[in-house]
Amino acid sequence: MPATPAYPPHSAPRLFVDEVLSDGIELRLGGPQAHYLANVMRAKPGDAIVLFDNRTGEYLGQVTHAAKRAVTVLLTQKLREREIVPDLWLCAAPIKRARFDWMAEKACELGVRRFVPVRTQRTVVDKIKPDRLRAHMIEAAEQCERSSLPELGDLTKLADLLAEWPEGRHIFFADERIHASGEGSFRKALVAHDGPAAILIGPEGGFNDEEGNMIRAHPSAVPVSLGPRILRADTAAAAAVSLWMAGRGDWN
Ligand code: SAH
Repeated sequence: MPATPAYPPHSAPRLFVDEVLSDGIELRLGGPQAHYLANVMRAKPGDAIVLFDNRTGEYLGQVTHAAKRAVTVLLTQKLREREIVPDLWLCAAPIKRARFDWMAEKACELGVRRFVPVRTQRTVVDKIKPDRLRAHMIEAAEQCERSSLPELGDLTKLADLLAEWPEGRHIFFADERIHASGEGSFRKALVAHDGPAAILIGPEGGFNDEEGNMIRAHPSAVPVSLGPRILRADTAAAAAVSLWMAGRGDWN
């Protein structure tokens, strides 16, 4: 007896729609989403599609009309509520654009709840393009089947970030200078520190001494090592988030 295919088929396109969705409504998708569905995915009436709104949840829809500029979809079933991902923030200094875009995409795939760009002394990139970062995270969420998008914080100066830091949220401070001291075992830090967390990653040139001291002086700071090799900031971010997700997140 052939197994009944899981419905919706895994191949069903999955799109984020920035409006409140509910079961039974018919909505019109225009612009790039219509182009993608009609021209790239060759959607036609009757095809299944999955939509999520980052507010109420994720829905199964059926294409009712498909044309180059507009595709209409009838939502036939609520598949699941908007998920609550693990309470981990990734706070990172902006690095070269393509790599920072990559970091935002990985933060989404790996399950980060909030992505906060942090301005530090040696940050080479002095402004970020929030819309680009958001677009990368939306695309990542569509691909990795998240039904909630990461929050995107404003570019925040390190001193302000620390001054306004929320009570009770650990800051796992990735410090490439402590490995030799034998301090900073991430594994031990994860065992010792449960609850809401953040990972703090510096720019290509690292934090300067004053910043390092300022971070270490913060009561929530937990300096951690990511091993004896100097990782690129984007590698460090992906590695640290993965470690936390495996130890304290939802990778169980
Ligand atoms: N100062 C480094 C470059 C910084 S790497 C140099 O001498 O070239 C960019 C950021 O990645 C660092 O600020 C740190 O947050 C993180 N990072 C890189 N390697 C790391 C390691 N082995 N342990 C902990 N954090 C690391």
